[in-house]
Amino acid sequence: MTNEHATVLRTLDAIPDGLLACDARELAAQLGGSTLIRIAGDRSPALFVSVLLHGNETSGWEALRRYLLAVERPGRSLVVFIGNVLAAAHGQRALAGQPDYNRIWCGAAAGGVEQELALALEAELVKQPLFAAIDLHNNTGRNPHYSVLTNFAPQALVLAREFSEKAVYIEEPATVLTRLLQQFCPTVALEVGPVGDAASDDRTLTALHRYCELESLDGDVPELELHRSLGRVHIPVGASFDFADASGGDADITLTSGMEAVNFHVVPEGTEFASTACELTQVLTVLDPAHQVVTDKYFRAIDGRITFARDVVPAMYTVDRSVIRQDCLCYLMERFEVPPLQR
Ligand SMILES: [Zn+2]
Repeated sequence: MTNEHATVLRTLDAIPDGLLACDARELAAQLGGSTLIRIAGDRSPALFVSVLLHGNETSGWEALRRYLLAVERPGRSLVVFIGNVLAAAHGQRALAGQPDYNRIWCGAAAGGVEQELALALEAELVKQPLFAAIDLHNNTGRNPHYSVLTNFAPQALVLAREFSEKAVYIEEPATVLTRLLQQFCPTVALEVGPVGDAASDDRTLTALHRYCELESLDGDVPELELHRSLGRVHIPVGASFDFADASGGDADITLTSGMEAVNFHVVPEGTEFASTACELTQVLTVLDPAHQVVTDKYFRAIDGRITFARDVVPAMYTVDRSVIRQDCLCYLMERFEVPPLQR
């Protein structure tokens, strides 16, 4: 075998026959695993587009195949990375036993197939210049669509503003794919809206058309409604949880109903977040971007009522139990301006 990584990353120079007829669940049968496809278009260098790092987040692939079916030739050459097709076959974010495919990059010691995959993709990325990179995701929870920045390169800000006036800057996890991609070109991740909502697919398709027709990312740095993450809220593995509107009342922590509706809105200090008969630290953990436990900074518990200890902007709050267990309950954010030196 000439390519030592061939088994973990398939590379193709054209779209295989029949591939665009496949929905996300059918890709594994066609491709067998993670695949990189180079597609010639009118402009160069190529736009990198990644889809299905999370196998249940199908809008990226849906929009991409609709785009490729609609145009005779893409407006710009594409390098398409189709991520976790095995999880996609089961409609899952990741399969049991697999790591999260957006936590395996940039030297993450994921081990096994995924570590090989990260090395293989990096080896492919150096082979051609790239115009820009967009990593396509669906939101979890009820959130507006927005972009996620991992740096403030002016061209990355332009890329973000093309999609939404809302953006989130994240310092961690350091092992997301965009952290790798930003070493090669302006990069942004797009949270396009909830999965299963036709508007999410349509919005992504519109964005793909725009990105492929963009001549340049130069120009004035745009205004963005930018937030940065203060921390991630987890429920410790040993703690049981329930939502107030569905609660039998015997869980360790009962989460106040309706928090999903305040995603991306300022929530004042003192607002109730949950109730518990346990110690605060037994039922909630807030980790800051440096992975330090900072629960007391953001929550206080008095007489069983857990309230916010300061004004925050919650985001990605989800009521999906598997996401809460696999990822987190929500992020806490604050409004933020791009540091002047980096504008
Ligand atoms: Zn995702």
